Amino acid sequence: MNIILLAPPAAGKGTMSELISKKYDLEPLSTGDLLRAVLNKGDEESVRLKKIMDSGQLIDDDYILSLVKEKLGNNKGYIFDGFPRTINQADALDTLLTSINDKIDKVIYITVPKEVSLKRTIGRRVCPNCKKVYNIYFNKPKNEKICDECGSNLIKRNDDVEEVFNKRYDTYLKETMPLIEYYKNKGLLEEVENIDKEETFAQITKILEEI
Ligand SMILES: [Zn+2]
Repeated sequence: MNIILLAPPAAGKGTMSELISKKYDLEPLSTGDLLRAVLNKGDEESVRLKKIMDSGQLIDDDYILSLVKEKLGNNKGYIFDGFPRTINQADALDTLLTSINDKIDKVIYITVPKEVSLKRTIGRRVCPNCKKVYNIYFNKPKNEKICDECGSNLIKRNDDVEEVFNKRYDTYLKETMPLIEYYKNKGLLEEVENIDKEETFAQITKILEEI
């Protein structure tokens, strides 16, 4: 079974991916992770990639696809996360899977009201010491500035501000809408609103049991 997860920023995609991969023994395949793995090698290839990324350009489809291709073939299936990002990539993935007698079974579009995404982002506080993550709206520490576990001062990351959030959110919608249409037309798209974690996972489970 292969599924694709699509979700705007802070819709809880990471958590769902983890829950799904555990229950169905699927391998999460995130192009972000694949790219980071290449960057960490520190070889010539990583230097080339870093240059492109630092200049704010996108890594080309062919390269991303070659990374994905290398990973395929585990006999269990995958959860694609952060890929495909464009119709071109979606077509290429389709071709790639067809060539190994495989296919995408479902595309799960996880949504959440924008103001919830926003609060999840701007309310996030991280402990620099023990790495525990809090949220001042949904998962408050006893004292807003201090880690319950280790007493360190909590940090709000520079990216976790409304302006950056809005920009990322709008970019996401603009980029992803064509993909949503693409998979809807193929009859593969299922939309699930993620308000309550257990409820959402139950809904996704129901969808996947019907494959
Ligand atoms: Zn801590």
